[in-house]
Amino acid sequence: MKCKTVTLGSTGIVTPQNGFGALPIQRDDLETAAAILRRAYEGGMTFFDTARAYSDSEEKVGYALSDVRDSIFIATKTMAKNTEDMKKQLDTSLHNLKTDHVDIYQFHCAGTVYKPGDGTGMYELMEDFKRQGMVRHIGITAHKIGVAEEAVDSGLYETLQFPFSYLSGEREIALTKRCAEHNMGFIAMKGLAGGLINNYKMAFAFMTPYDNVVPIWGVQRMSELEEWLSCMDNPPELDDEIRKMIEDDKKALDGEFCRGCGYCMPCPMGIEINNCARMSLMLRRAPSANWLNEHWQEEMKKIETCIECGACRSKCPYELNTPELLKKNYEDYKRVLAGEVEV
Ligand code: SF4
Ligand code: SF4
Repeated sequence: MKCKTVTLGSTGIVTPQNGFGALPIQRDDLETAAAILRRAYEGGMTFFDTARAYSDSEEKVGYALSDVRDSIFIATKTMAKNTEDMKKQLDTSLHNLKTDHVDIYQFHCAGTVYKPGDGTGMYELMEDFKRQGMVRHIGITAHKIGVAEEAVDSGLYETLQFPFSYLSGEREIALTKRCAEHNMGFIAMKGLAGGLINNYKMAFAFMTPYDNVVPIWGVQRMSELEEWLSCMDNPPELDDEIRKMIEDDKKALDGEFCRGCGYCMPCPMGIEINNCARMSLMLRRAPSANWLNEHWQEEMKKIETCIECGACRSKCPYELNTPELLKKNYEDYKRVLAGEVEV
């Protein structure tokens, strides 16, 4: 059996349900990244998602894949806040990617849904890019579900990129359906829930019933890529065994865990709640060394400054007692750092 192909809504883009997320290749040197990208292409991946904000990711994609440009789809993103910057950013992206067009140009991590006539000129500029042939389709990426829902309902976007994995809730599942109803493609980011999920077969199989969803797996190492490529010829099926494993994993997490969605943010004290409130899990489910470095020690220490304003708690869709969860995670973190607890 072969990996299923998906049509990304009205874009007409047809690609295996197994896309490449080019954020982590920022951390590779050029030749390592190029070898990974090339292997991804040769292994059958055709959908590559990058962003202007991912430092040299676009350059690496351009370097590795410009000679096969017509056989792949490239989605990139802009975080520009005005039209002048957006023009410059698209120029830079096209230059880096060594191409004259991007297949999907997305407003990156949109806080607002740009619309024609909203006074910003941002959406009109996207349409202008499209008329000029530099952009084939207009997309949007969001982290807040309200923004995502508004974008879908606006009818102005052909794709939505949003976090989606088997740890997602009913509202996210409904969002994929809402996209399908609007003939929109759904690009699923964080299919491993930012490291909470460590079984690629379960993560992959979960996506398969969603006909308009293309997951973009973030890949930094060849070994990770090989796992995803093994799904091209042997796609894990969402059979009873995998369904049970998913249910067991959700139960093991017990419902009372932070999904890392970030709906509760920003915190007035600058606490990075979406990572700090699930640190105990990250330490145990993902390689722990990174989470114990100086940067994260400082981020965790900020929990001491929590003023208990309750803003996060009132916004958490999972009704978590976020300040308490942060404190619990901090206590555990200190014990792990001190070597009192092994992970
Ligand atoms: S309760 Fe604490 S963690 Fe939550 S938003 Fe307020 S200061 Fe930040
Ligand atoms: S505390 Fe709730 S809202 Fe905040 S990141 Fe975790 S799950 Fe999301």
